[in-house]
Formats: sequence, structure tokens, C-alpha cells
Amino acid sequence: MKITSIKTAATVGHGMHLWVKIETDAGVTGLGECVHGGTQAIATIEYLAPKLIGRDPFAIDAIFEEMRRGHVFDGGTGGALITALTGIEIALWDLKGKALGVPLYELMGGKFRDKIWVYADCEVDPGMDFDQIKHVVDDVMERGFTALKIDIDIGAYSTTRGTQTFTVVKDKFNYTAGQIEHERMIELVDMVTRAAGPGMAVAVDIHTRLDVTSAIRVATDLAPYHLMWLEEPVPPENVDAMREVKQHSKNPICAGENLYLRHGLRELIEKQAVDIIMPDLPKCGGLSEGRKSANLAELYYIAFAPHNVSSPIGTMASAHVCASVPNFLVLEYHWLHRNYWTTIIKEKDDIIKNGYITMNDRPGIGVELDEEVASQYQYPGTTWFK
Ligand SMILES: [Mg+2]
Repeated sequence: MKITSIKTAATVGHGMHLWVKIETDAGVTGLGECVHGGTQAIATIEYLAPKLIGRDPFAIDAIFEEMRRGHVFDGGTGGALITALTGIEIALWDLKGKALGVPLYELMGGKFRDKIWVYADCEVDPGMDFDQIKHVVDDVMERGFTALKIDIDIGAYSTTRGTQTFTVVKDKFNYTAGQIEHERMIELVDMVTRAAGPGMAVAVDIHTRLDVTSAIRVATDLAPYHLMWLEEPVPPENVDAMREVKQHSKNPICAGENLYLRHGLRELIEKQAVDIIMPDLPKCGGLSEGRKSANLAELYYIAFAPHNVSSPIGTMASAHVCASVPNFLVLEYHWLHRNYWTTIIKEKDDIIKNGYITMNDRPGIGVELDEEVASQYQYPGTTWFK
């Protein structure tokens, strides 16, 4: 079997859902998805495509590594080039599964579990009162989820204390949290955990916004809350700073969504600077890299909870890795109020039910894009599988 074409299409998504379709001379095709590569990833895939025509599509890891090392000066260690390769890599996995008539988890060593626990990323505004927060949490719970995540990094917030009004306008570049901002972060977590009650797992994202001392203050005051995790308390590029926060936090620290490849996660894992890694598989290198990263983390008993803002295709692709590694914890779901989530797949059924994805035995990724419907959301200025 030989690759005969590589084509892309893109829809509006978290920025963009970028689809990669790979066709072969045997008539078998594969579909992959990547995110956060932007139009650079489309250009890169078009540039790489001629190099892949005529190649054996089953040599997934070799193709990935050859392209990556062959373009190491062009971004082969992180960024849009890796994301472009990721779209190709996931399409090759889908193709191989379909050609062999097996789901991807069977090609990855088999399943550790049949059901993949999913958490809902939900939107809590820093100005919300308890009733408003409870409304958000109730909505998540009514949809059957047993885990959620909120953001507590505060852009702008006003509060009246006595006769005085305090306004927090976060400086775009300074990482230090002021007293009012700090207190509000703790109050938000207090309200969310009270609204959620004891059965709901709650994760809290700080989006890399704090310096070490501010983050340790937050971690210290959040100690009584038994969170699922505290996410990216400090910027991702300084692993020692992350480790410092981790050593002062009673709650697990989670990071990694802005890192690429297992190489990007290596220091975080080896220094045990986190309790949980959260690579975004359709962005950071794909399914093989994701699986290898999870396996590396497992050596240190570090859990694996992939970041995910993809469509059902990329989400399901990630789920195969989650099924095939022992240290999987939970997978993200970002599209609580996105009504096209189920319409763009041929199955016309939500892959997430009661907060879980149940792995199916269909070949490849196991869900199919409905191109007719998906093309209605085509990203402006892009072509559609041409
Ligand atoms: Mg995050």
C-alpha cells in the first residue's frame, strides 16, 4: 500500500479544527485532526505532502521521526511544524486501523479500560455570585459529568468592601497577584466546590498567570479543598519554578498543554515537577508521542490527563491513547455549548454519555466526519480537501 494524496480542510473550532485526509492506492483512507497550528500548519502539510507520496502508510513512527528530524531547523522541536506532523500522524493511525480492520487501541497494546472518564471545561466569570456559579455547575452535572474544570485567573474584577470599591485590572505582563485578586481566586474555588458537592471532581486552571510566591500562596490557601488538580500555576518554560510550587501544594499540580513531544515533557517528568501531565495530543506530536509520554510519566507514578479542545475526531483519537496507558486519569471536553459537536460526525450521536466515552470496536479512530455538514463551518480562506 502506498500513500497517493494528503489533503486538508479546516473548520472553525478552538481557533481552528484542521483535518488531514490521507488516501492510498488501495482505496483505504485515514482522517486526522490537529489544533493550534493555524494556517501555518496547513502550509506545512502542503509542503510535506510531496515527500510522503509513495510511502508506506503503516510506517507511522518512522515517517513522523524522519519528517521531524529532517526539518529540525524549521521547528522540529515544537510549534506549528509539529502540529502539522501531528495531523498527518493521526490520519496515518486511522488509516492503519481501517486497513487492518481494528480499533487503534488494539494497535497500541490493547485496552486498560473500556470507558474514558471525561471532565467538562466550564466557564465561570470572576464576577459571578454563588447562585450564578451554582447554575453553571448544575448545568454540567445535569449533562451527566462527574468532573469539571474552572478558570480562576482573573482579568478584571471589582468588589466593594465596606464603603470602598476595589478594582482588579490584571497587568498583562506582571505575574504577581494582589491581595484582592488572591482572595477572589480562593472565593471562586470555595463557591464552585460548595456548588459541586462531594461527588464532583473539580480542577482549577490558572493559565500560567502567577509567579512562584503568588502561586504558593494560592496553593496554600486551596489546601483544604481536595481539588482534582491545580493547573499551570506558573509559566510552563521554567520547570524548577513549577517544581517549587508543587513542593508547597497539597493539591496535585498539572501542566504540559503548552509543551511539545515527549522531549518537551521530559524535564517536567524527570524532575517530578508535576503530579499530572496534560499534553494536547492533536497538537503536541500525536498518538505515539502521547503514549510514549504517558509511559515515561508512569515511571514516576505521574498521571496522564490530556488537554483537549478538538472535535469528536481528535477527542476520540486521544481516547484511544487514554485507553491504552495505565496511568490515564481523565480527558478534557471543551464544547459544552457547541451545538455542532455531534452534527459534524456521521454517527449523529454524542460520543460522551454520562461523563464517559465508551470505546467502540470500529476500525481506526471509530468516528467519521460528515463532510457535508462540517463544510458548513469551513474556516474562512481555507480549501476543502483539494
Ligand atoms: Mg489550561
